[in-house]
Amino acid sequence: MARKRVSADTFEMALLCPRIAAAARPGQFVNLLLPSPDFGYRVLEGVAWHESCGRPFLLRRPFSIYRTDRSDQSDRSDGALDTLALLVKEVGEGTRRLGELAIGTSLKVLGPLGNCFRLPPAGTAAALVAGGCGWAGLGMLARELRRLGHPTYAFIGAQSVEALPVETTVGGASLPREPFVEGLPDVCLTSAELESLGVVVALAAESGGKLYRGLVTDLLGAFLRKRGQGGVNVYACGPRAMLARVAELAREHGAPCQVAMEERMACGMGVCNSCVVEVRLPDGTLGHKKLCTDGPVLDAAQVNW
Ligand SMILES: Cc1cc2nc3c(=O)[nH]c(=O)nc-3n(C[C@H](O)[C@H](O)[C@H](O)COP(=O)(O)OP(=O)(O)OC[C@H]3O[C@@H](n4cnc5c(N)ncnc54)[C@H](O)[C@@H]3O)c2cc1C
Repeated sequence: MARKRVSADTFEMALLCPRIAAAARPGQFVNLLLPSPDFGYRVLEGVAWHESCGRPFLLRRPFSIYRTDRSDQSDRSDGALDTLALLVKEVGEGTRRLGELAIGTSLKVLGPLGNCFRLPPAGTAAALVAGGCGWAGLGMLARELRRLGHPTYAFIGAQSVEALPVETTVGGASLPREPFVEGLPDVCLTSAELESLGVVVALAAESGGKLYRGLVTDLLGAFLRKRGQGGVNVYACGPRAMLARVAELAREHGAPCQVAMEERMACGMGVCNSCVVEVRLPDGTLGHKKLCTDGPVLDAAQVNW
């Protein structure tokens, strides 16, 4: 396990998991069991008793597979990938604990779990829309789309520049060639890493700065209006309200849209039914899908927003 901070409350961590890394597809996730807090000793009438110093982590925590890599430690000659990168936002006890674990700690990891994104037809453009750490669910897809030569656009939004889930540099060299959003400043922040993959990047923050001031869905709306009907597949991951707006915009512009949803989840394997979402079935009635096994990727048009 290795770790790198990306923003004030978000870090990237690498896990050496050869079997999961080799099988993982964009959109899938892992379910991590965090080590329980250390046990301590209490001396009672001269006898040392084993006693837990804190609550153990009963529930696993789900995280999207952000990227797969080949580690320096790999001794395989076939170039197989052996490492998973996760992008984690610290929101509670479990994610904070994950951020504190000593490098080299072993974790129990279940995966790869869930379904994956369907890729667009050859040559078709893809618009990836992320709200905050939702980018974690799209990072691997962005790489796969570029590997296959799809024109790929990434719209990433957060409340502030500091909360963006990618490292930023001043640039925007790709934007003058694609002036799809009028509200973007001429010189603006971008992700050099994504641009080096050939992804056209547009960042948004509600608090403004050297990027679009507003919602990431405004950027998507402007982009889809410029493109006209058809020819773009939309992929999104982020807060539910953002996903609902993305689904609406995609429907208005006739763009196929898949969303990776991040509801609360426990077992990750279809047993506990804690992650069901309401969907509209082909006959028009309402039904349920389990996000862990039927998802996390769903057709946006199916979800009863
Ligand atoms: C399929 C899937 C993929 C995910 N991928 C990522 C990822 O790549 N990176 C990332 O940072 N997070 C991801 N999440 C969300 C992540 O699992 C939760 O943030 C994490 O479980 C919170 O654990 P905690 O102990 O820190 O927080 P807790 O103390 O349990 O909760 C703190 C806060 O987080 C919210 N929360 C708890 N569980 C979830 C959940 N499952 N989904 C959304 N919010 C939750 C709670 O409502 C609360 O506000 C994903 C969730 C799912 C279902």
